Amino acid sequence: MGEPCIITVAITGSVPRKLDNPAVPITVPEQVESTHAAYEAGAALAHVHVRNDDESSSSDPDKFARLQEGIRKHCPDMIVQFSTGGRGRAMEARGAMLYLHPDMASLATGSVNFPTIVYENPPDFVRSLAATMRDGGIKPEIEVFDLAMLYNTADLVAEGLILAPPHVQFVFGVKHALPARRDILEFEVAKLKELLPGATWTAAGIGRHQLEVNHWALEMGGHCRTGLEDNVRWDKTTLAPSNAKLVERVVELCGTYGRPVATATQARTLLGLPATAQQAAA
Ligand code: ZN
Repeated sequence: MGEPCIITVAITGSVPRKLDNPAVPITVPEQVESTHAAYEAGAALAHVHVRNDDESSSSDPDKFARLQEGIRKHCPDMIVQFSTGGRGRAMEARGAMLYLHPDMASLATGSVNFPTIVYENPPDFVRSLAATMRDGGIKPEIEVFDLAMLYNTADLVAEGLILAPPHVQFVFGVKHALPARRDILEFEVAKLKELLPGATWTAAGIGRHQLEVNHWALEMGGHCRTGLEDNVRWDKTTLAPSNAKLVERVVELCGTYGRPVATATQARTLLGLPATAQQAAA
């Protein structure tokens, strides 16, 4: 058997999906329930955003606090990762909830065009978020939307702003960023191994690329991300029924590639996190 695969479930994104899939959890109780079902299905890590009542992206620390509390109550060892991205959020608000000490938080190490906006991550902002995470004992998940972000990460690790070994996610299929191409992932993983030995990595495919990127990551020894944030469809004609069903699909795929599914406890070991969230907070 290969190395256990950590399955991340990205339960709720930052874009209102009024025309999309009603299974996307929007309120905090819906998010807790959806995360719990995904955990039972095999997800070890929850990547979370929170929403306002009108479904726009929220920065409300109170919502992050209630969501984290709910997840820790129902899924005690699950890894909680707050998003510091999110369209429509003021830059200074994007890290405002990190005082809640999630296990992890996302950190994009550069700017990139998204479908209709610039996802702004200026150098000083990246450094400030990285320092906040380091000082708060929060492990960043480095979001790599293009190759420069990987090199920026290596510089930040060399400077001590990001602790080695980092955990990196390669993102594919965002319009105006990298297309979902396996040869690009292969190149990125080769460069990661050269620049940051010992780093762990995962990959996310957006929309119809979700499943094919899962295949590539499993075959190449990486970890996987699924969930309704990235993709609301099951196939060409059907909507995905739930986050848990998307997780189940990756669990089955792990079997195909001879990869055991990492429990939350195993995932914590693989990522160098404390055994429980309680320990992290102490
Ligand atoms: Zn996200």
